[in-house]
Amino acid sequence: MLKKNKDDRYLKNYIFGSMRDPAEGKYLESVNPATGEVYSYVPDSDEQDVELAVKAAKMAFPAWSVTSIEKRSRILNRIADMIEQNLELLAYYESEDNGKPLLTARTVDIPRAAANFRFFASAIQQFSSESHRMEDAINYTLREPLGVVGCISPWNLPLYLFSWKIAPALAAGNCVIAKPSEVTPKTAYYLSLICKEAGLPDGVLNIVHGLGHKVGAVITAHPDVKAISFTGSTATGRQIAQVAAPMFKKLSLEMGGKNPNIIFADCNYQKALNTTIRSSFSNQGQICLCGSRIFIEKPIYEKFKTELAARTYQLKVGDPLNEDTNVGALVSQSHMEKVLHYIDLAVEDGGEILTGGKRVTLKGRCKDGYFVEPTVIEGLSVDSRCNMEEIFGPVVTLIPFEKEEEVIAYANATEYGLAATVWTENLSRAQRVADQLHSGIVWINCWMKRDLRTPFGGVKNSGVGREGGWNALHFFTEPKNVCIEF
Ligand code: NAD
Repeated sequence: MLKKNKDDRYLKNYIFGSMRDPAEGKYLESVNPATGEVYSYVPDSDEQDVELAVKAAKMAFPAWSVTSIEKRSRILNRIADMIEQNLELLAYYESEDNGKPLLTARTVDIPRAAANFRFFASAIQQFSSESHRMEDAINYTLREPLGVVGCISPWNLPLYLFSWKIAPALAAGNCVIAKPSEVTPKTAYYLSLICKEAGLPDGVLNIVHGLGHKVGAVITAHPDVKAISFTGSTATGRQIAQVAAPMFKKLSLEMGGKNPNIIFADCNYQKALNTTIRSSFSNQGQICLCGSRIFIEKPIYEKFKTELAARTYQLKVGDPLNEDTNVGALVSQSHMEKVLHYIDLAVEDGGEILTGGKRVTLKGRCKDGYFVEPTVIEGLSVDSRCNMEEIFGPVVTLIPFEKEEEVIAYANATEYGLAATVWTENLSRAQRVADQLHSGIVWINCWMKRDLRTPFGGVKNSGVGREGGWNALHFFTEPKNVCIEF
């Protein structure tokens, strides 16, 4: 079992199996967003640390790439076991680092991180490649690991999204240089300790902490890093593509969203209402899949709006460690300011705040935390900034509609296309609307229902490529066709 130890305050990089201080000995402050206090320090690494990590990964690759699938799978399963055994500690750190309710970390983030390792431990054992028979020859296609790959992840679901990349990369036989968000580094640090104890060979996974422009950018530009799997904002994804594409690296980019929820009058009303509360405010609205534009068909607009606002008002904003907290802290002061700025902008643009709209000041240990009321706004035009740009906080807008074609046009009007939710009991309409939405994922009468085998990702400025299931294993391998003439 992992224990809190004195090193906790100063996190370390994980390179060639050892816990290392950054080369220059510099650290960044980590702030607990629920209290506003600095509570630990994260390595402010630079290109020297990345260089060392790449060297370690290159040294480890020849052995790891030919390690039997059974052995790789056993190690990944051991990592999953250890994440589960340490669920309480990891959930506590995830909540402390990110501000999310402890309950969310305990029931969603950490179990899902374990599931990611377990899923790919099993998937790699089922992974197969093709063969194509000709009259006088046979082709068989090998799927070989790429070598050293880079995995860069954001702060909103820290260990969950970090492991969603690392697990398939390792399962497929690659060695990894991984960079968690500098804002939420703690569970990645604990993952290092777990990997050591689980018997992952030295150098197979290297975790370098630090800033995006100092560590992420160096990983992206490194000639020995063959692929970049990135999750984060569209702006950063664009920067990564500008560097990596001319180097012909494989790229998987999971980026921002501005997801529509389309609610038709013939929906299962209670289910739609309950789920819309979740899809709006889970993790303080900081999930790339949250629906932030809620389109409601006119016959039920007034009723739905009134009940949604009333239910939102009842959500408890509070200390993330309290079991009855529904909405925790936003991840940082700057992010809270960004969210509040968008709320001001909504008012300037003629929006009416139905509930919420302000910073919350709590008492006691959370008196300086970054809390914002869950907010529902109506009266904004479809093309207002708040309906076009990603806010990524506990803020949703309501827009009435009359016709199916009209709402499809509204839904498709942004530069994003990650996920959409449609509520209707009319199966033909559900299928028709799903067909026309410009979106990588469409949920009908549900939200965040995830089968790890399905393709995950977005279209337009939300994404390039897909994660999940075979997609991830295809991304982290290169096909080689061998043709034998008889
Ligand atoms: P971000 O783009 O600021 O940072 C993401 C990661 O990239 C961090 O580790 C950061 O240090 C690193 N980075 C920053 N600049 C870099 C550079 N120049 N080169 C390489 N790496 C760099 O994003 P964020 O604020 O951490 O996360 C929030 C964003 O993530 C939102 O836009 C959200 O929609 C998106 N997101 C998308 C998905 C998805 O699956 N599509 C999932 C979760 C979050």
